[in-house]
Amino acid sequence: MMTNAYLNAVYQDTVRRNQGENEFLQAVLEVFTSLEPYVERHPELAAHGIMERLVEPERMVTFRVTWEDDGGRVHVNRGYRVQFSSAIGPYKGGLRFHPSVNASIIKFLGFEQIFKNSLTSLALGGAKGGADFDPKGRSDGEVMRFCQAFMTELHRHIGANCDVPAGDIGVGSREIGYLFGQYKRLCNNFTGVLTGKGLQFGGSLTRKEATGYGLLYFVEEMLRSLAHETVFGKTIVVSGSGNVAIYAVEKATHLGGRVIAMSDSGGYIVDEGGIRLDVVKAIKEEERGRISEYARRVPGSRYVEGCGGIWSLPCQVALPCATQNELDLAAARTLVENGVMAVGEGANMPCTAQAVAWFQEHGVLFAPAKAANAGGVAASGLEMSQNAMRATWSFEQVNEKLRDIMINIFRVSQEAAEACGRPGDLVTGANVAGFQKVADAMLSEGLY
Ligand code: NDP
Repeated sequence: MMTNAYLNAVYQDTVRRNQGENEFLQAVLEVFTSLEPYVERHPELAAHGIMERLVEPERMVTFRVTWEDDGGRVHVNRGYRVQFSSAIGPYKGGLRFHPSVNASIIKFLGFEQIFKNSLTSLALGGAKGGADFDPKGRSDGEVMRFCQAFMTELHRHIGANCDVPAGDIGVGSREIGYLFGQYKRLCNNFTGVLTGKGLQFGGSLTRKEATGYGLLYFVEEMLRSLAHETVFGKTIVVSGSGNVAIYAVEKATHLGGRVIAMSDSGGYIVDEGGIRLDVVKAIKEEERGRISEYARRVPGSRYVEGCGGIWSLPCQVALPCATQNELDLAAARTLVENGVMAVGEGANMPCTAQAVAWFQEHGVLFAPAKAANAGGVAASGLEMSQNAMRATWSFEQVNEKLRDIMINIFRVSQEAAEACGRPGDLVTGANVAGFQKVADAMLSEGLY
């Protein structure tokens, strides 16, 4: 419960005007709660209506996406793009293709993206989009036709200096390629209108690795600064086995950690000897298969049905990298009982509010998504820079910049937490540090 009357009133109004949008309201409440000390000290925010403007997207479009499957059957999906804030730069945020996608999920992701993008120190506004389309089990031809139909509407709303989408759940390099091809065909314009592109047509080295690597750079810095520890020698559990999870495991292993488990929405695998990432990449990136296949290929490993049980495995570092609200209070209690010392959110809002509170109350170092998974959008920002300059930077150049950005995000979050009288509370720190720049820009730009 917030004590600040202004924040309370705006939140109650947000609840009234966005009924049933639980994920969006969860994200707003989390941000508002941690901004309370800052808002108390800055009455100009209320005077200029900053919070009520921030919770209302600048623009949101929903549209019909009609496509034909391989059998000639017509399908209709719903597409979304929410352009939440352009206060500090062109709209930027990923596209998610998953059957669960709805207005609430797209708005929670777009809202969080405002602050995350601000934290990167790059000039990027906040946006998100997607569709309730499930690419799983679809042929390449079907995915291509869906992407073309989706872009046939979306192209009116985006542009290299206006709104630059990227990938997210269900949208990887294959989908970005089809979306880019259709944009180019419709607009007769070869520009960096999407990030996460193939290397042959303007993509950046390290974009694929950036979110997972960035998460580990952040967690390593958090362990070092707040506990005089490192990832080296730690037992680690990573949920998911998609883009973020795979490259989190890769960097954790580079840093000397031992990752013993990964999952997908069906269940999880345990390999006490350390996950063989070559096998996971073959199953997930090449064959688009299920994680259960790992146990059939690697002797000594096992598969357990049901993904939630992964948090019952004893570990020192837990990295939820699958989806929102995948780690609840019961899971947090079990992790704490089993001695977890650090949790880093690779996915967006993977821990429920109760789980986050439990970790914080029990002295677990907690790296919130906004800060810890900002590596993906940071590398996307670097891809935009390369496109604008028509330059190509090496893997080492981009990786070095990515590492610097993640360490800087940790520092500014830590400093903001200290300034609010909550040292070590990186949830507060990340929200305040991300918010400050956006609010200052809004105050300077006049009413809109
Ligand atoms: P992918 O589509 O590549 O992978 C998602 C993974 O999560 C899959 O293994 C999927 O399994 C699994 N999954 C989905 N739902 C559940 C569930 N309920 N329980 C367990 N596992 C589940 O997506 P990304 O790796 O790109 O994204 C993962 C998370 O990271 C999302 O929250 C996303 O918003 C966030 N993120 C992604 C960024 C990026 O650069 N890609 C940047 C910043 C954040 P299955 O195949 O069975 O569905």
